[in-house]
Amino acid sequence: MQDTIRDTVILGSGCAGLTAAIYSARANLSPLVLEGHEPGGQLSITTLVENFPGWPEGIQGPQLIENMKLQATRFGAEFQMAHLVSVDLSRRPFRLNLGQSEVKTHTLIIASGASARWLGLPSEQALIGHGVSSCATCDGFFFSGKEIAVIGGGDSAMEEALFLTRFASKITLVHRREQFRASKIMLERAIAHPAIEFLTNTAVEEVLGVEEKEVRGLRVRHRLSGQETILPLSGVFLGIGHIPNASMFAGQIDLDQDGYVVTHENVLTRVPGVFACGDVQDRRYRQAITAAGSGCMAALEVEKYLEEHDR
Ligand code: NAP
Repeated sequence: MQDTIRDTVILGSGCAGLTAAIYSARANLSPLVLEGHEPGGQLSITTLVENFPGWPEGIQGPQLIENMKLQATRFGAEFQMAHLVSVDLSRRPFRLNLGQSEVKTHTLIIASGASARWLGLPSEQALIGHGVSSCATCDGFFFSGKEIAVIGGGDSAMEEALFLTRFASKITLVHRREQFRASKIMLERAIAHPAIEFLTNTAVEEVLGVEEKEVRGLRVRHRLSGQETILPLSGVFLGIGHIPNASMFAGQIDLDQDGYVVTHENVLTRVPGVFACGDVQDRRYRQAITAAGSGCMAALEVEKYLEEHDR
């Protein structure tokens, strides 16, 4: 059993990985999908997805993921919770070290996505789980009737702020610039909400409450006037983007300066037989539907590669 060589292994079970699983399973490749520490990817911690085609009323992110997983399982995809310790792409078959076991595979689809970015302040890191969070849907409930802050100026920050209005009495959206990256519709919704207040040109200097082991406030600085302000509040949600989960491939495939996998012809990496799809290689679109599309491409490339190599 240990010497079994897989036709394909898919690293990641977000939208890209699951679409690759559906396609490769339907091609009778019995894909093994390795689910990491964030199974289901970013969709599994989001709320209503309104722009995935086919759902006129929208669909909850976790439900969409569950549907895709059921669809892949129905055609024979296998799922395993595993942490990839290291990988060897210099030999064939490729070898994936999962700590307790090793998996050998003819092809690999990297769909490991991207994880939440943190500010990197020591006080922020000390208070993760004690009032500092990067997941509104996971932790919003704990802030019923409380005042909180959301950091960021993109769609994630707007979405988090809007979602958190269900719980928090007041949300201060802190953004480091005057201009927003968020789409017009999301920004307008957030601006129109009476519980959301905007603080622009403002940098977070410190999360207060480290000694008390719970968030007590934020020390922020206006970037133009230099004026420092203390905002008393009970929770801080980060919505400042994501970092690609690809560092374990450094030196074996090409990564760009921000750590994204460099692909050519959409999903090909510089190692034949290794493909990348979804947010781990997409710094431009980063949508559920584009991740799904690239997952499909990766699976089709795997099929082609295996055919060409007589597998
Ligand atoms: P994003 O668009 O890259 O925005 C990140 C925001 O965080 C930016 O405003 C950025 O500020 C700020 N930021 C980054 N690093 C920071 C730091 N160290 N300190 C303070 N602020 C920092 O990321 P995103 O909002 O996660 O969105 C990513 C993609 O997913 C986008 O394509 C977005 O449309 C999509 N998305 C869509 C939805 C939806 O449609 N429902 C929901 C979420 C995400 P600057 O502007 O100054 O760089």
